[in-house]
Order: sequence, then structure tokens, then C-alpha cells
Amino acid sequence: MGSAQVFVYSPQQSQGLEGRKPSEISPPSRADSGQAGEIAVGWNPLVVGRSRKGSMTAWTKPPPFRADHVGSLLRPAEIREARSRLERGELSAEGLRRVEDRCIREAVARQEALGLESVTDGEYRRGWWNHDFLGRIDGVEIELDAASYKFAGTDDPRYTPRVRRRVARTRPMMLDHFAYLRSVAHETPKFTMPSPSILYHRGGRAAISREAYPDLDELWSDVGRVYREEIRDLAAAGCTYLQIDDTSFSFLCDERFRASCRARGDDPEALPHMYAAAINAAVADRPAGMTIVMHTCRGNWKSTWLAAGGYDPVAQTVFNDTNVDAYFLEYDSERAGGFEPLRLVPGGKKVVLGLVSTKSPVLENKDNLKRRIEQASRYVPLENLCISPQCGFASSHHGNLLTEDDQWRKLALVVEVAREVWGDS
Ligand SMILES: [Zn+2]
Repeated sequence: MGSAQVFVYSPQQSQGLEGRKPSEISPPSRADSGQAGEIAVGWNPLVVGRSRKGSMTAWTKPPPFRADHVGSLLRPAEIREARSRLERGELSAEGLRRVEDRCIREAVARQEALGLESVTDGEYRRGWWNHDFLGRIDGVEIELDAASYKFAGTDDPRYTPRVRRRVARTRPMMLDHFAYLRSVAHETPKFTMPSPSILYHRGGRAAISREAYPDLDELWSDVGRVYREEIRDLAAAGCTYLQIDDTSFSFLCDERFRASCRARGDDPEALPHMYAAAINAAVADRPAGMTIVMHTCRGNWKSTWLAAGGYDPVAQTVFNDTNVDAYFLEYDSERAGGFEPLRLVPGGKKVVLGLVSTKSPVLENKDNLKRRIEQASRYVPLENLCISPQCGFASSHHGNLLTEDDQWRKLALVVEVAREVWGDS
């Protein structure tokens, strides 16, 4: 791709990167990127991660919870300022980490105070929901890509992950992120990671080195191993709630995107099967006691979006051929279509209805939310439904166009509606 400008994405350089020429961006330094992978200093599984409900393993109810959330949160001003200072050379990586630690601790306490039973680190240590994780896989490079698709109404440069060499995991990706989250969580800590399918979804076959991978099956075999190793270590560190974040399935609900897939030589009918197989390989060794959910949406960035269309074209594969326990589904606008595709959800799986929008500061009407839950219960029994926002509040460090107060009000509304609909069930 001649239009791609190459650099390796470094999470701690992510803020403000878009406005700079690649030549102004420092060369990558894995050693400096805070991602060496060691568990946070001082973390001890025997003395932390305790539950308010009793012993450290007494997170009694399996996720997802009636009131849940996708995960990312608007970055506090303190983190944005600290990142800017780091980029100007005025703050060390350790200094940034201390600020992140404090902000994550406060965000976790805030989530718990609202009554949420799952807590995340808000993805405060990441620049982007996907690039930071994928960029830590050996062999993957995150490149500025002028040819990549644009969010509605925006002309911002986009990134595409590219597989340049054989992929491997020579160090943990985000084990230290989870370890810290768990050390400060009283409720169930949820960890989020991008779906392996994103490696293909963005750039297609052209983003995968033919030299390294003449055969795509070999790619998915290696990627599956990388994910299984990370999930194994997360489980050993106490992770019982893992979310795979996806946009590849939902984009295939959009006829325009399907057409662009055909134009690049892919069959949009076949892609869901490839993506499901990639996810299944990633989670194949998951331990008993770990709940794995999948979130899918049509893009969520600076309150804009990328795709539109109901779940019909992918519902069968997503709900029946993907080995996850529950789905966090975008349902905050007409772009997501109706609830009818939910009829294909098998009895043992749960659906978390993403009815509250993170794209708008307008607080949803409680009665409307309840009405929509009732409508969805015609396709999935009420006891298998939950409610959440449709996506995170900040898929990248930029965040969406609402305030932190708006964000907490929305999460409080989710909790309130869940209590009124399901009681303590
Ligand atoms: Zn999303």
C-alpha cells in the first residue's frame, strides 16, 4: 500500500499523534513503552483482588451482569496532561504510570459506588482500544494509513494493523494492566482485548505479508496461539471476565462495507466464518470459571460511526458458531436494526442490550429503555438479557463528545434501569 506511512505505534505517544507528520514521530521503543509485561511492582495475588462479598474468589454471580458496561471511559484531564508532558519529555514513563494508577483506582471506585458489578480500568493506559494490544504482538505493526476508511463526517487519518512477519508472543501484552486493575477492584474486574479478526478486518489480505503467510490458515494458527498464551496468563492472574472487542462482524452488516470487501477480493459471506474460527482458536483453552463475552459495534469514535445495518447477515454465525458466553450488542440507534436477529441466539447465551448511547450527552428516557428491553424479550428470554451502553465512552484517548459527568450519569441510569427491570436477580 503506497499510501501507508509506516511507523510503529507506541501507546505513550498516542495523544496528539494524528496532528504530526510521521517524520516527527519518535522511532518506536518497546523498552520505553511501558509494556515490558511484568506484573505491576508489589502486586501479590494473595493479598489483593479481594471481594467485598468475602474471600478473593467470592465473585459469586457469573458475568455478564444485569447492569454492565463495555469498558472504556473518558480519559481524565490528569491523564491527558500527563501524556502530553511525557511526549514533551517532562515526565517519565514511571511518572505517567503513577498518574494512571491513581486515576484507575478512582475510576474503579466510582464504578463500584454506582453499583456496577463489573469494573474496568477504563482503558486509561491505552491510546486506542485495539492498536495498543495488537501492536504488542511480535510481527504486527500499526501504520498510519491514508487509504483506510473514514468515520462519518471526519477526515482524520486512520491506522491499520499490518502483519509484517510471523507473529509470536515473546512477552505478555497487557498482563500488567489487568494485574493492577485486579489489585484495586472489589467487584469483578473485566479485561477487554480486540478480536484477532481486527488484524484482517482493517486491511484485508493486503495487510498480511504473503512472504510470512502464504497460507492464511497458518496466520490464524499463530494468532490463536498468541491469544491463548495471553488468556492463559490472564487467567493465572485471576481474570474471570474477558471481553473480546470486535467491529468486523458488525461492519459486515453494512452493504457498502460488503461491497468494499468484494472489491478487495474477499467474500463477505465467507468472512464471518473466518472471523468466528479466529476467535474460537483464541479462546480454545479458556479455563473453567472464565466468562468470555464479545462486543461488536459499527464504530465509535469522537461520537461518530462507520457502518450501518441490522445484524441479520451475520447473526447465525455470530450467535451460533462463535464460542463465547454473551454478546454486548450495539442497539442505541436505528443503524443497528431491529431485535429480530436475536431469535437466533441459542438458549444458553446471554445478550447485553447496548441501549444507552455513549455518543450523545442526552440522557435516555427510562421508560423507553424498559420498553425496548420488553421488545427484545420477545426474542431472548428476559432472564438472558442485560443492559449496558452500546460501546465504550472512549474507544481512543480522544473520547466521545460528552462530559465525564454525562458518562457517569449514563452508567448510573444503566444500573437504575437494571434494578427496576430485574430486581436483584
Ligand atoms: Zn464498540
